[in-house]
Amino acid sequence: MPPSILVTGGAGYVGSHTVATLLERDDNRYDIVVVDNLSNSYRSENEKKPEALRRIEDMTGSTIHFYANDIRDRAALNRIFENHEIECVIHFAALKAVGESVEKPLEYYQANITGTCTLLEVMREHGVTQLVYSSSCTVYGEPQKLPLDEGHPTGQGISSPYGRTKYFCEEIMKDLCASDQNWKVISLRYFNPVGAHGSGRIGEDPYGIPNNLMPFISQVAVGRLSELLVFGGDYPTADGSGVRDYIHVQDLADGHVRAIQLFQDPRFVGFQPINLGTGTGYSVLQMVAAFEAASGCKIPHRVVGRRAGDIATNYADVSLARQLLGWGASRTVIDMCRDTWKWQSENPNGYKN
Ligand code: NAD
Ligand code: UDP
Repeated sequence: MPPSILVTGGAGYVGSHTVATLLERDDNRYDIVVVDNLSNSYRSENEKKPEALRRIEDMTGSTIHFYANDIRDRAALNRIFENHEIECVIHFAALKAVGESVEKPLEYYQANITGTCTLLEVMREHGVTQLVYSSSCTVYGEPQKLPLDEGHPTGQGISSPYGRTKYFCEEIMKDLCASDQNWKVISLRYFNPVGAHGSGRIGEDPYGIPNNLMPFISQVAVGRLSELLVFGGDYPTADGSGVRDYIHVQDLADGHVRAIQLFQDPRFVGFQPINLGTGTGYSVLQMVAAFEAASGCKIPHRVVGRRAGDIATNYADVSLARQLLGWGASRTVIDMCRDTWKWQSENPNGYKN
């Protein structure tokens, strides 16, 4: 049996781009196994696999092993580990809507924390001790200084239960690594992932009205929504709108490939957080202008009050990623907008075309 990478949540936005990137590599030696409960990904009625994975198979000529299971289903996870020679896990599966997590904290703690613990227990049972975890810059809470480096305190002033699930999972994995030197865990702290695969065939396909800026802008561009509300025009930033470190999802996917390569280094052990961003912040109004330039579409927008829980500015210090992974983002904000537009304009209704 060839070695496999288990990708939890691999039918979702970041997961599908990472799966595509792994399979597109000439030197890929892994089978890809995806477990996803389809709670935030789409599968048409007469297909066995989610549409994103079906398209990746089509693009790469590879077969993806797919299991439509919840990661809290211990028996199902056990069967997956029995069926495949799993060498490491990339763990994307989680609920991620910040606002919803305030309304439904127990559902978020159950899915994200119980789900992660169940996965770690099943991994341990099968002697698999290498994990790449999808974390978030939200673990830093309100920035005490910028840029945010990995030494910045975590866990203080996090504004949502969702953010706390990411922080708690990191703490759990830190304790696990301290208890047993066989574990290697790389926690990738994403800044703001945007963009889509350059082919336009896979991209971000949120259910309902998007909460995040980029999918909202692109749905305005395609005519599904009438105008963008810019949350806050009085932040202490150059133009008053909030500043974030947007990173192209393909750069993010490359970061995961580099993380897996780091597992091959025998000197690497334990728990290691690493920021994945570009190191540069852009404001909401700058993103609107960039999208207009890249797409040729006008984005009607109106500045309104601030959104609860938002901070003014954040951006990453990315020197550790360069040092440990030999990784840096190469795609520009214009690339991010152009690829988002290609995906959205060629798939106006997402995967349900
Ligand atoms: P997504 O919702 O598109 O993908 C997550 C996938 O996991 C979905 O396909 C969903 O069906 C699946 N899933 C959810 N709960 C599951 C469960 N209990 N069992 C099995 N499958 C389950 O989200 P995404 O944007 O691709 O995010 C992936 C990861 O990255 C998440 O852990 C998220 O918290 C983290 N992250 C995302 C962002 C972002 O802005 N997209 C930023 C920072 C961190
Ligand atoms: N934002 C906005 N209008 C929207 C969605 C987001 O002005 O409809 C702003 C938000 O206030 C923040 C930035 O865009 O300054 C990025 O927000 P997003 O929700 O995409 O990511 P976050 O950084 O909050 O995780």
